[in-house]
Amino acid sequence: MGQTSAGGRLRVRRAAVIGAGVMGSQIAGWMASLGIACELLDLASPGPDRNRLAEQGLRRLGQMKPAPLTSPAAARLIRAGNIEDHKERLQDVDLVIEAIVEDLGAKQALWAELEPWIAPRAVIATNTSGLSVTGQARGRSEAFRRRFLGIHFFNPPRYLRLVEVIPTAETDPAVVEAVQIWLRRILGKVPVLARDTPNFIGNRIGVYSLQVTLAAMQRHGLSVEAVDLVTGPVMGRPKSATFRTLDLVGLDTYLHVLRSGASRTDDPEERALLAVPPIVAAMVERGLLGEKSGGGFYRRA
Ligand code: NAD
Repeated sequence: MGQTSAGGRLRVRRAAVIGAGVMGSQIAGWMASLGIACELLDLASPGPDRNRLAEQGLRRLGQMKPAPLTSPAAARLIRAGNIEDHKERLQDVDLVIEAIVEDLGAKQALWAELEPWIAPRAVIATNTSGLSVTGQARGRSEAFRRRFLGIHFFNPPRYLRLVEVIPTAETDPAVVEAVQIWLRRILGKVPVLARDTPNFIGNRIGVYSLQVTLAAMQRHGLSVEAVDLVTGPVMGRPKSATFRTLDLVGLDTYLHVLRSGASRTDDPEERALLAVPPIVAAMVERGLLGEKSGGGFYRRA
């Protein structure tokens, strides 16, 4: 498992992050800031510039304020690539973290494609917001399933200390223990064990409160600014006002989280609570996805 020292601890010298979007690029940025070399792989782009998507993710990282990367030296620890041409890079990593689109089929297909390339010692993790971790590993070998678990960072991953750790029934308990120690000691996080239930703990609670606020806004004709004023810094929640949070998360990702949560519950009340608000559906349809697309409820400054 990983590079282990005495006591079976996880030692990550080199990691791979798959998906260079909002979360993947920032997770790579934070690990690199702590001295961990990172392969940052996205889809291959057509044409000569095959690494364009991962490079874009890196550029976005450089523009974020406050910066997720702490130094130019840290930036040099991240190598951009694509999953078509650079699978062999996975043979030299201690940890793989997946952060691609929140879609179970896409994640299953990715694991099927990558499994033969991943170093046998590597811990393998998904950053899913709430899809079934067990379901993602379906069809994979026992050796894969024993090293596979959810490591769910919250956005922005450099600053939010909560990380949910989601083992499946087949994850090796030694891996679960080692990952938690690594998160606490090396990444400075507060790992919380969660069961593999729809949207785990944090998003289950967080999504309900966002949904209720969105419904109240529409019912009472409140403005984005008014809601953010009373749900933001003046209430002691720096930067975590409702619509700023949605823009940061990405409205498409929020929509995926609602849909996957609704599809995995038999409780009609819960399903109603997770219904996609018309305003969110309309904005996603128009490509207003939040900060990553240059605009959502707010335009990017
Ligand atoms: P995003 O849309 O910003 O980025 C996804 C990236 O994955 C894109 O760059 C896309 O090109 C790439 N991608 C898609 N399919 C791929 C594939 N098969 N191989 C390689 N790359 C592929 O999404 P995001 O917001 O970064 O979310 C990524 C994951 O993290 C999702 O599972 C999401 O639920 C989870 N997450 C998101 C947040 C958040 O606040 N946005 C927080 C925690 C967890």
